[in-house]
Amino acid sequence: MTDEPEELYLDAAATEPVSRDVIESMLPFLTDAYANPASVHQPGRTAARALDAARASFAADLGARPDDVIFTSGGTESDNLAVKGIAMARMKALGLAPGSGSGRPPRIVVSAIEHPAVMQSAEWLSRWFGFEVVRVPVDAQAHVDLAALEQALAGEAGERTAVVSVMLANNEVGTVEPVERIVEIAHGHGVPVHVDAVQAAGLIPIRMRAWDVDSLAVSGHKFGTPKGLGALLVRGRTPIEPLISGGGQERGLRSGTQNVAGAVALAIALRRSTTRMAAHWRDLVASRDMLIDAIRRVVPRAELTGDPERRLPGHVSFVFPGVTGEALLVDLDARGIACSSGSACAIGRHEIPPTLLAMGLEPSIAKSALRMTFREPLTREQVERVSLAVEESYDSLTGR
Ligand code: PLP
Repeated sequence: MTDEPEELYLDAAATEPVSRDVIESMLPFLTDAYANPASVHQPGRTAARALDAARASFAADLGARPDDVIFTSGGTESDNLAVKGIAMARMKALGLAPGSGSGRPPRIVVSAIEHPAVMQSAEWLSRWFGFEVVRVPVDAQAHVDLAALEQALAGEAGERTAVVSVMLANNEVGTVEPVERIVEIAHGHGVPVHVDAVQAAGLIPIRMRAWDVDSLAVSGHKFGTPKGLGALLVRGRTPIEPLISGGGQERGLRSGTQNVAGAVALAIALRRSTTRMAAHWRDLVASRDMLIDAIRRVVPRAELTGDPERRLPGHVSFVFPGVTGEALLVDLDARGIACSSGSACAIGRHEIPPTLLAMGLEPSIAKSALRMTFREPLTREQVERVSLAVEESYDSLTGR
């Protein structure tokens, strides 16, 4: 029998394992307290109380109020609801709906590095309602170009803009965006801002109300819930149309009987993640930087992508000229190291990471991207093991 190396999972940005305490927190609501939270009887009220408590705890950890929370099936649904729902409500309020006779198309402004959940929602608005989609460029480290944003919102065009959508932290390169400045600029032109915080929630502090954000999307499986759970936080003041109609649950913005056990899992997992992060922040950042240094040492041609400092704590992303990220990832997988060549969002497609193209990298270089993400600090031994494996993989693929 050969000794298989122990698997090292470095793909936390794709999904995180569900911890035992999160599973245990869900169990009562799958067994004894199974009632529908809308039922008026005693068991129903027990379920409703659990839902309320989960909502309050979840909101508090994101700097929001309980009423802001709309539970959904995950990040993709939350982004769809925000982008399409706000755009449609605002299009009507601005008198720019098709058939209004305005003759002026509504606009949506997104950063050039948005996740497909946002980008494809914007494309859908363009296809069905004639929206102009404006992509604000980013710099070489993936920061949104604030001067370009200002320009995109100036004058008559700004008046036709329904919503601005940006991410708090980028999934491919980990860069954290200046969301407060973006909100200031957009609000200066009277335009609401949706923030995709899927990669950031549970990892960096989020203060939705203090930042004056209008809506904010999070996804549970990125911080330790089962997959298919998430939320859109949306202020009462924000104009928004529901995409799912029915019995009027979740302020009428997301009809359908709520997943009580799922809401409890979201609250418990987010609390667990934010507490863990506060305790481990320094170690996580130190191990990230140790891995970055080690990779630079073993493959001097490798280049870190994204902002070296304003980046997610457990996020390491590089390009490795001379190989493809895919070949590297397959080779590392055979050595027991599970990482990613960019993002896991496009099923079965090995696209060139779009963020890297938007950052101005040549397609041949962008194709060589590799991402390693983790939410527990790596030990020195783990860093050494990973860097040795990267060196051996790179050497064997390039014949170095
Ligand atoms: N937005 C970002 C930035 C993401 O990274 C992802 C998933 O990777 C999503 C949205 C989609 O979230 P979900 O997988 O919960 O649908």
